[in-house]
Order: sequence, then C-alpha cells, then structure tokens
Amino acid sequence: MFNSEEIMKPVTENACSLCAPLGAALAFKGVEGCVPLLHGSQGCATYIRRYMISHFKEPVDIASSNFHEDTAIFGGGANLRMAIDNILRQYKPKIIGIASTCLSETIGDDVPMMLKEIRKANPDYPPLIFASTPSYSGSHEEGYWKSLSALVDQLLPEGPSDMAGKRNDLLPLFTAALSPADQRHIKDLVGLMGLFPCLVPDSSETLDGGKWEEYETLPRGGVSLESLQNMIEAKAGLHLGAASALREISPLKILGRKSGLTPHFQGLPVGIRATDRFLALLQDLSGQAIPKMLLEERSRLIDAYVDSHKILSGLKAMVFGDEDLVAALVPFLAEIGVKTLVAASGSRSGHLKKALESLLSKEEQEGMQVVEGADYATLEKLAEENPPDFFMGSSKGYAMARKTKTPLIRVGFPIHDRVGGPSIRILGYGGARELFERICNGILEVRQEATGVGFSYL
Ligand code: SF4
Repeated sequence: MFNSEEIMKPVTENACSLCAPLGAALAFKGVEGCVPLLHGSQGCATYIRRYMISHFKEPVDIASSNFHEDTAIFGGGANLRMAIDNILRQYKPKIIGIASTCLSETIGDDVPMMLKEIRKANPDYPPLIFASTPSYSGSHEEGYWKSLSALVDQLLPEGPSDMAGKRNDLLPLFTAALSPADQRHIKDLVGLMGLFPCLVPDSSETLDGGKWEEYETLPRGGVSLESLQNMIEAKAGLHLGAASALREISPLKILGRKSGLTPHFQGLPVGIRATDRFLALLQDLSGQAIPKMLLEERSRLIDAYVDSHKILSGLKAMVFGDEDLVAALVPFLAEIGVKTLVAASGSRSGHLKKALESLLSKEEQEGMQVVEGADYATLEKLAEENPPDFFMGSSKGYAMARKTKTPLIRVGFPIHDRVGGPSIRILGYGGARELFERICNGILEVRQEATGVGFSYL
C-alpha cells in the first residue's frame, strides 16, 4: 500500500469532501428538539440546507447569525444573541447546536465567551452547545466529530467518582455518519442482542420521517437530552468508525473520561467479517447468544456471495468518501474478491491509511493507493492511468464516472442524482447483501449493454 504524498498539489480541484459546519449540522440534526445555528453569513446555512434537503428530501431548517459587512468588522456578538432569541421564539427548541464558520473564525469571534455572557443573563435558556468548525481547518467529518464531542463535553457533568451499583444498561453508540435506514438497522441489531442503544446522533426520524398531518416547527425523533444525560451511568460504550476511532479527541473518549465506562472501538460493520466482530462484541456485553434470525441472515449472505462470486471476482474498484466509510468498504470489497486500486477521502486526518492497514492483510493491501485530501480531478487522472471496473462513492463522482464510462455504485453522502439516499443500507449481514447485489447488477448492466444483442439469462 502506498499513500498520497507523491500526488500532493497546491490547488484543490473539486474537493472530495464537504465543509465542516455541514458535518456539524448533520450531527446536531440527530438530537431531539435541536436547531443547528451557524455563526456566520447567510450563504453558509443556505448551501448546507440545499445540500441536505437534496439528499434527504426532508425540510431542513438551519439558522444563521446572518453576518453582514459591519458584523465582519465589529464582531458577531449582537447577531448571535439575536439569532438565539429568534430561534427560541420561533422553534422553542430543547437545545441549540452552534457551529462557527470560516468568517466568524477568521475575525476571531470568541463564541464561548459570548455564550457565557448570554447564559449569565438568561439562566433559563436551554443548553447552547458550541463547536468550533472553520472549514479551512478540516472537512465535514471534522465538523461532525467535533460537534458530537462538544455535545458530550458540554452537556454531561463529570460522573460521580463512586458508580458502584449505579450503572444502567444503556449502550452509548457513537457512529460515523450513516443513512437513516442504517441507523434504524443498527439500533435493531443492538436491541436484538438484548441491549438498550443510545445512538448518537440519531437522525433516523429527524431526517427520514413520515408524512406530517400538519406543519411542525421541528421534526420528531433524535436522541433525547435525557438519554444523553443517562449515558454517564452506562457500563460500556461503543464507537463505530475505524478511522475516527484513531482521533485523539472523540465523544466516547470524553465520555469514558467523565464516567469511567469501558470504551470499545470498531469499524463500521460492513460485510461478514466486520459484522461478526460487531455481534461478537454485543454478545460479550450482553451475555446473550446471537439470535437465529441473524444467523440465518448471515447464511443467506454467504449463499449470495457463492451464487454470484463469478460476476465480481478479480474486478478492480476505486472507492472514495468519508474516511470511516472508505475504511469499511475496502475490507468488504476484499471479502467479495474485488481489488481496490484507490481508497480516497477528501478528509485529511491522516488516519485512513492506518485504519486500512489494521483491517487488511498484506496481500489485500498490495498495489492499493490511499489518497487523503483527495479531489475529483486527481481521482479522474488516476482512473485514466489505471482504470477501475467500477467506482464506489457519493453522487459527486458522477461526472468522473460519465467521462470515463465507468459504473458508479452510489453510497454515502450526498446522493443528489437519485432518489433513496436515506434508505441505502450497507450495515449488518442484510445491508452487505443489498450492497453486494447492487454492485453485481451495476456490473451486469454494463456487460449486458456491451454485448450488442444483450442477454436475458445469466
Ligand atoms: S464559507 Fe466556509 S463555512 Fe461557509 S460554506 Fe464556505 S466553506 Fe463552508
């Protein structure tokens, strides 16, 4: 395996990542009754709303402190106060998640100090959680994890030093950004294993809700403040995301420090090997055997692999997206006989390569290029030099796929050119089967077209 240092360039052309406050908004939207507030100019909130609405097909309200020229010169304190007052009046939220933007960070607004003064003058306000998320210091993944860390850090008190006999059965579960369908599935899996999941964030309903009978200012769902506060008495907690698990600061590490719970870190359970590891851990924590229905699902997945291995075996892929997603997809591809030529992420934490090294055998790593801080111009060039049989990543790779006439298997965020982004499943045995079959069918479609007369049977 070799990494991206040789292809570092001074200019990014069409970045393979999104902006940090967008990650903050994704995280805060998974908390019950929370309104995300971006401290900066209107355009940041508008762009992020547009991005999220187009993927989730749900109303997404993101407030802004609405900077103008004078704010950029004199500071945004008054705007922040006004924004909070407006949100409280219009939405009556249970919590406000505030994220800074490039502009407010560049002018040096001291938001923690401003919030301290606002709190002093208004002790009855709901929790005001702040994450510093200038986009020039990291991608949306940075904003996402910083916001979850801020939630745990600022919302939860230090746990009592003596917790003997006080621990509850809640399982705090911090995950990399997932589709709402996968969030529902992961909660089901934890529940089936006899544990009580506290998924953070939980946007399974807030960003994928049912039909409204009448207008609601805030969508239903999300992890409740009460559940978040109860995490302090949990016995154990789990972080799912192989690259983000290597971060120095993470919500589970903060929770572990505050409460003394036992932290566990794993990659996202995509494929048989990773799902086996995930269920084995849940089995250890609950002492409960894996239910028959999950064993049957596993057996059906193996059967699907056997039935269709000849379609995919020996193919080559280029995978791009969030670091945790890429770190889960590449081992899954190795499991189904596909060689990854390029594993790329627009993020630049430095953890993707290490995560892949820990999850792949030496043989599986051979010839694979890991590109961190990737842009689509670089990926397109790499695809022309060493063509993959398919791409795997968000819909932002479509232009490259079209130009190089290579199928794109859509996963992750955003999916802007298809419906159903929120219902894409990749986790667990069932999700792996859906993903496996989507890849097979994507390849078959190309082969069918290429034969000239087509074919009706495999
Ligand atoms: S100015 Fe910064 S925070 Fe705002 S949308 Fe652009 S990159 Fe994101």
